[in-house]
Amino acid sequence: MPIKNTRLPKKPLWCQRCKKVIYRYDEWKVSWFKNEEICTKCASEEDIIRTRLVKAGKNPADYEGCGYLP
Ligand SMILES: [Zn+2]
Repeated sequence: MPIKNTRLPKKPLWCQRCKKVIYRYDEWKVSWFKNEEICTKCASEEDIIRTRLVKAGKNPADYEGCGYLP
């Protein structure tokens, strides 16, 4: 049996935060805090926010999908 063709969805990919066009599927992520599709650069900025939350004694999981950047 041939492996099923796993092509990318035919929708345009761009970061909904910084509007950067995303050419590769592995450079695309879903925001932790918002319902946004974002690039890895914006995702790494969210990682920094999550680290700050932990340092402030907060649980990042409490902010999952909260709709804003804490
Ligand atoms: Zn971005």
